[in-house]
Amino acid sequence: MPIEQAYRARWVFPPESEPISDATMIVVDGILTDITTQHVPTAKDLGSAAILPGLVNAHVHLEFSSLSAPIAPPLPFTDWIRSVIRSRQTEDSRESSLLAGIQECLQTETTAVGEIATSPLSTKQLDDCSLAGVVFHEVIGISEQAAREKGNQLTDLLTEYRPQRDQMNLGLSPHAPYSVHPDLLQKIVQLSRSEHCPLAMHLAENRAERELIGSCEGEFRSFLEEIELWPGDVWQEFRTINDYLRLLAQADSALIVHGNDFQSNEIEFLATQSQMSVVYCPRTHAYFQHSQHPLPHLLNHDINVALGTDGRSSNPDLDLWQDARHVRQTFPDLSPREVINLATTNGVRALKLPSDGLTLGEQARWSVISVDRQSSESDPWHLLFA
Ligand SMILES: [Zn+2]
Repeated sequence: MPIEQAYRARWVFPPESEPISDATMIVVDGILTDITTQHVPTAKDLGSAAILPGLVNAHVHLEFSSLSAPIAPPLPFTDWIRSVIRSRQTEDSRESSLLAGIQECLQTETTAVGEIATSPLSTKQLDDCSLAGVVFHEVIGISEQAAREKGNQLTDLLTEYRPQRDQMNLGLSPHAPYSVHPDLLQKIVQLSRSEHCPLAMHLAENRAERELIGSCEGEFRSFLEEIELWPGDVWQEFRTINDYLRLLAQADSALIVHGNDFQSNEIEFLATQSQMSVVYCPRTHAYFQHSQHPLPHLLNHDINVALGTDGRSSNPDLDLWQDARHVRQTFPDLSPREVINLATTNGVRALKLPSDGLTLGEQARWSVISVDRQSSESDPWHLLFA
């Protein structure tokens, strides 16, 4: 017997058309079969709510999910990293953190994640839940020796991190320019192409990163010297962010995480690479007090931008809808529809999910957002953020 689910809501927002009022969505065996305004007696009434394509959190570190507040201090950035390293956990506490993070994502209507995994436990936990998405195996290794060793282990590690469930895919995450040797990065890019798996890399996060790769100076150099990992000048062929972007463009697909500090020539390059996306983490960006994110410029250049919460190490929670609201407040010139796309369909494209969630005949993934019953707002897009 096919399993039929029907939900009625004040508004349903299919991705390719205008919102439909007082509509019922019908899902049979997980496939969206109809969105109708006719009365369906068996439908569960969600009341004053909107059904959206599923929210996609394209960048999260679930291992920090048991933190009750972001790790202080946010500045300087390397002091924050020192604190993150001190807070690293045992495998037991990691397991409960991952579980807490998954629960929080589900409770806040997130349907897919781009998880940055530092342990195969992430894969195991995500295989046991209903979230879709990508488990990105995080790779760190800045010294020549670490780069060689990690490079040799990559293929085995991919097997260890590979999810079993159809809805979850495998990816690779070279951490950042200050933590991954360029030789190792090149191996990761090759593997991404041969294994057809997406990459995610923190890039153009702040000025200090540019200073490190450009002149081997600044707070990252002091930090690496202090922890006895200064590799010498390994960035001769990677002096600019564009050098990194050109290499990452050779991957199967790539998510550039943050891009807070992008300059116009980098944005222009990204605009020529449709397999590349940028993930903007709005409340994490605000936590680090960066200057305005180049989001409008990225969108003007038709670059695919998705949203991420990042981890609870830099965000008070993993509620992606609050990040979408933050975007709406920070960039009032963006239409509500554009903001919804960032949080939904753009994330689908970035993570290469098989369906956008609310298209007829495809696997359904949806999120329910309550809308203000009292509001006099008649435009459903504005009502969402009322
Ligand atoms: Zn991150």
